[in-house]
Amino acid sequence: MSDNQIVIIGGGLQGLATAFTLLQRGEEVLILERDSDVATSASFANAGMLTPSQSSPWNSPDDILQILAGIGKKDSPMAMSPLAIPTLFSWGLKFLINSTPKRFNRITSNLYTLGSYSKDLTKDVREKFNLSYEHSERGTLKIYRNQENFDKAVKKLSSIFPDNSGVSILEDEELIQLEPQLKDIKSKLSGGIHFSNDEIGDAYKFCKQLEDIIRSSGGRILTNTKINKILVDKNKINCVVTDRAILQTKRVVVCAGSWSRELLKKVRLKLPVTPVKGYSLTYDTHGLNNMPKISLVDEGIHTAVTPFENRIRIAGTAEFVQFDDSIHPKREAYLNNMLRTIYPNLFSQIDRTEGKLWHGFRPMSADGLPFIGKTKIDGLYVNCGQGHLGWTLAMGSAALLADQIQGRDSEIDLNPYLASRSL
Ligand SMILES: Cc1cc2nc3c(=O)[nH]c(=O)nc-3n(C[C@H](O)[C@H](O)[C@H](O)COP(=O)(O)OP(=O)(O)OC[C@H]3O[C@@H](n4cnc5c(N)ncnc54)[C@H](O)[C@@H]3O)c2cc1C
Repeated sequence: MSDNQIVIIGGGLQGLATAFTLLQRGEEVLILERDSDVATSASFANAGMLTPSQSSPWNSPDDILQILAGIGKKDSPMAMSPLAIPTLFSWGLKFLINSTPKRFNRITSNLYTLGSYSKDLTKDVREKFNLSYEHSERGTLKIYRNQENFDKAVKKLSSIFPDNSGVSILEDEELIQLEPQLKDIKSKLSGGIHFSNDEIGDAYKFCKQLEDIIRSSGGRILTNTKINKILVDKNKINCVVTDRAILQTKRVVVCAGSWSRELLKKVRLKLPVTPVKGYSLTYDTHGLNNMPKISLVDEGIHTAVTPFENRIRIAGTAEFVQFDDSIHPKREAYLNNMLRTIYPNLFSQIDRTEGKLWHGFRPMSADGLPFIGKTKIDGLYVNCGQGHLGWTLAMGSAALLADQIQGRDSEIDLNPYLASRSL
C-alpha cells in the first residue's frame, strides 16, 4: 500500500462521496467497507430527497415534545425506547442545549447553506459523468393540515430563504394544479409550500455509480472488511486493524455513519452522534394510475412520499432505540396508513403483499450539524453526523473534507461544520 493513500472507513454516501472527491482532486484512496456491497446501511433506501429546504434540525420544541410523547410507543412518528434513555444522557443534553431559538435558527441556516452547495455539486457530478439515478428536479411540496401550523411555517420562511427564491405558497386550487393527485384530500388541507429548487434521486443507484467511477479511476474499494481498531502512535495515525489484516497508513477518514462513535471511542475521541432509526416502504407502481409526480412532505409527522420512475416510497419515523434491528409490524402499518391518508386512490390499487420494508440508522449529531475534517489526532479525519440530511449534504460535505485535507480554501464558510468543535 502506498504511503500517500487515504484510507476511508465506510462505503455509504459519505464514504463514497469522499473517495470520489479526493480521487478527482488527485489523491489515492482506499475504501474499507465491512458489508459485501457498498451503501447497504443508512444510504440504501432512504426517502431520496435532496432537500436544502428541509434544513431544520430535529431539536425544535415541537419535535422534542413529539419524542417525549413517543417514549415506549410503536405507533407514533417519533419514539424512544425506555432502555435507550441511559445511553442518551450526554447526547440528549447537548441536543436540548442546541434547541434554543437562536441556536436552532443558526443551525438551520448553516444546514441550508451546506445543503444548497451540496445539491449544486451533486448536479454538476450528474451532468459531468452522465449519471442516471431516477433523479427529478420538480422540487418538494410540503403540505399542512392545520391552519395555525401553516401560517407559522409561512411566517418562518423569510428567516431561511431571505429572498424567497424557489419558494411558492400554495392554497386550494394552486395545490391541486401542482399535484393533481392531492384532489381526494383537498378539503383536509390548509395549504402547502412548494420548494422548487429541491431534487430527488435514488441514493443507492447514485452510490453504485460513484463506486463504478471510483474503481475505474484507480480508487480501491475492499468490501467484507471490517475495521476493528485504529491505532495511534505519539498522537499520529499508525495503522488500521481490520478483520483480515493490519494496514499501515498515515491518513484515515472515518465515514462509518452511526458506527463512527464506537470506532472513535477506541482512540479516546467522543463523537456526539447517535443512531436514529427510520423506515421506508417501497411499492412497485408499474401500470398503476394516479401516480403523483412530486415528492411530498406531510408536515409535523416526519413522513415523506417520493415517487420514483415506477415505484413509490414512503419514509419516515424516528426511533431512539440504539441499534435495535427488530421491525415492529406497527411501523409498516403506520407507513401504509400515511400513504392511504395522502393518496387514497393510488393506495387502493397497490399490491401490498409486494412492499419492500427497510430500516436504517441516521447518524444524528447532537447539534444537528455534521462533523467534517481534522481531529486532534494527526492524520485522523471524520466526515459523519449528517443525520436526516445525509443524501442532501453528501457531495458538499465531501468537498469541505477534501479542502481540509488538501489545505485549500473552501467555497463556503466551513467553520460551523468543523469536527474540531468536539474532537
Ligand atoms: C428512513 C430514512 C430516510 C432518509 N431520507 C433522507 C432523505 O430523503 N434525504 C437525505 O438527505 N437524507 C435522508 N436520510 C439520511 C441519509 O440516508 C443518511 O444520513 C446517510 O445515508 C448517512 O450516510 P453515511 O455514509 O454517513 O452512513 P451509512 O450509509 O450508514 O454508511 C456507513 C457505512 O460504514 C460501514 N461501517 C460501519 N462500521 C464499519 C467498520 N467498523 N468497518 C468498516 N465499515 C464500517 C457501514 O457498513 C456502512 O456501509 C434518511 C435516512 C433514513 C434512515
